[in-house]
Amino acid sequence: MPNTPTHDFLTIASAVVLTPAVYGFLNGIEVEPVSAWTITVVVGVAHLISGILFSPDLDIDSRIHKRWGLLLFLWKPYKWVIPHRHFWSHGLILPPIMRLAYFFGMVIGLLYLAEYAFAQLGATNTNNSLTLATSIITWLTDHPIITISVAIGFITGGAVHSIADWLVSGGKRLLRSLFVPPKRSRVARKSVWQVSVPTRWLVDPFSKSGPRHY
Ligand SMILES: [Zn+2]
Repeated sequence: MPNTPTHDFLTIASAVVLTPAVYGFLNGIEVEPVSAWTITVVVGVAHLISGILFSPDLDIDSRIHKRWGLLLFLWKPYKWVIPHRHFWSHGLILPPIMRLAYFFGMVIGLLYLAEYAFAQLGATNTNNSLTLATSIITWLTDHPIITISVAIGFITGGAVHSIADWLVSGGKRLLRSLFVPPKRSRVARKSVWQVSVPTRWLVDPFSKSGPRHY
């Protein structure tokens, strides 16, 4: 597996490539400049947050946990429940969105519990947590382009990490056997069918495999 600084570097380097590409694409399909800038910034920031704070490696003890400081406890249940280096943490599309939804659910859930506890002690139950949750969901549904941009950024941020793990755990060998002419490939003698690389964990929730450890 690449270590955390390598993953961080890849997240930042890919953001540097991704953001002009998103802006160029939006410009190409004639989205007005202000909207194109807004979408580009949202995708870029979501990509960075996904890779650096909501990393797939939250399923194990890692430097990512330290970044959460006092809020680290929010991720403890996630770490207990999510299988170590598996589709549910390292998969390509669903898991990054799931992490965001999990975080949202935990924050609202804890605010709700705190309000409930204060109400038991005699304070007025204001239901601010539910009002906050409803306002956020309403805002997101009223601004679908921003919501989709956040989702895209979160997916790309997680995907850069998962693909790097896949490349290090054998994917590079598979690509070499597919694209490098036999004489220059170290796996020249092997056909592509002989190169066994677990890949299903990237897309299949029921896969029992994960990125290999070296
Ligand atoms: Zn990983």
